[in-house]
Amino acid sequence: MSIISDSLKRIKPSPTIAVTQKARELRAAGKDVIGLGAGEPDFDTPDNIKDAAIKAIQSGDTKYTAVDGTPELKKAIVEKFKRENNLYYSTDQITVGTGGKQVLYNAFMATLNKGDEVIIPAPFWVSYPDMVLLAGGKPKIIKCDEKDGFKLTAKKLEKAISKKTKWLILNSPSNPTGAGYSKDEIEDLAKVLIKNKKVHILSDDIYEHIKYDNFNFFTIAQVSKLKDRTLTMNGVSKSYAMTGWRIGYAAGPKDIIKAIGKIQSQSTSNPSSVSQAAAVEALNGAQDFIEERSNAFKERRDFVVKSLNNIKGISCLKPNGAFYAFPSCKKLLGKKTKLKTDSEFVEKLLEKANVAVVQGSAFGLDGYFRISYATSMEKLKVAMERIKSFCENLN
Ligand code: PLP
Repeated sequence: MSIISDSLKRIKPSPTIAVTQKARELRAAGKDVIGLGAGEPDFDTPDNIKDAAIKAIQSGDTKYTAVDGTPELKKAIVEKFKRENNLYYSTDQITVGTGGKQVLYNAFMATLNKGDEVIIPAPFWVSYPDMVLLAGGKPKIIKCDEKDGFKLTAKKLEKAISKKTKWLILNSPSNPTGAGYSKDEIEDLAKVLIKNKKVHILSDDIYEHIKYDNFNFFTIAQVSKLKDRTLTMNGVSKSYAMTGWRIGYAAGPKDIIKAIGKIQSQSTSNPSSVSQAAAVEALNGAQDFIEERSNAFKERRDFVVKSLNNIKGISCLKPNGAFYAFPSCKKLLGKKTKLKTDSEFVEKLLEKANVAVVQGSAFGLDGYFRISYATSMEKLKVAMERIKSFCENLN
C-alpha cells in the first residue's frame, strides 16, 4: 500500500513552476535559455515598501500575529476596497493569507464537500482545478473560445450550472490570456447568477492593476445582488512586485472568512509579520509607480503581440491586462511540421530555440501557448526572433 494519500494522487505539480525550473536547470548547465514561463514581474519591490519591512524588523514586529491578518493590514484592505472598487466591508469580512494561492486553497478546503462542482472557465490559471480536486470537489471545465476573447458567455454559464454547483471562478484580467471582462460582460454573467441563488462566486482579481488602453476594471462583487455570495481575492504579489513576500487576501461573507481562518489556525497560522507590515505600506503608500509599470508592460505587450502576429502560422489576440499573451500555434501542428500537440511545440521550441514558454493544454485549452512578457525588452526582442526563426523553419 502506498504511503501517499489518494487525494494527492488526484493532482499534478504546477506545470508553470515546472517550466521555470527546467529553464533554470538548462541555464545552470550553460545553455542560453530565455525563460518566458514565469508569472512574476521583473521589477523590484518599491523602496518605500522595503523600508516599511526593515522598520518592522527593527521595531520588533517579529512575533506571531492574529492568524488571519493584523488589524492594521485588514484596515488597509478595507480602505483599498472602498477607494478602488467602491466596496464596503468590515474587518471581519477580510482574511489575509500567505499569498493569494493560500487564500484560494483555504477557501476550497473550507467549503467543498465530495462531489461539489466548481465551474472553471478555460483557459484557466493552472492551480484552480488541482486545488478543487485536492479539496474533494469536482472541477467543471468550460472551454471559452478565442472568438469570445477566451471569456465565459452567459449562455455557457447557464448551461454549466447544475444542482451541485458551489462556485464559479472568474479571473479578470486573466492568467493565461490577459483577457479582461468589461462591466457589460460581467453584468451579463450576473443575470444568470442572480437567478441561480446557490452558486457562489470566487473572483480572482490579482491582476487588477496591470491593465492597458483604459480598460475599466470591474469586479463582480460590485453587482450589489451578488456581493453576499462573492469572495473577492486579491493580493500584493503582482501589482506591487511582491511575489516573494507572500501576502494575499480576500473579502467576502463572514462565515466563509471565519472558516478560512479556522483552517489557517491549524495549518500555517499567520502570514509573515514582516510581510504584513510591508503590505500595509504597499496599500496605503504612494500608488503612482503602478501606472508607470503598467506603461512599461504595455510597451512590451504591443511589441510581443505585433511580433507574434508577424510570424507565419501564429496568431495572437491583444490582451487587456496582466503580462501574458496566449497565441495560437494550431496552424503549425500537423503532418507538415510533425508536431502533434502544443506540448510538442513547446518542447521543441525549448530544445531547438532555447525559449521556454508553457503549452496551452496546461491551462485547459489545446493549440495555444502562453508567453509571459514580464521580462526585459532586450530579452523579448531576442526571444521573438528565435520564435520566428523556429516557426518559419519547421516545415
Ligand atoms: N491567481 C492567479 C490568476 C495567479 O496568476 C496567481 C499567481 O501566479 C495567483 C492567483 C497567486 O498569487 P500569489 O499566491 O503570489 O498571491
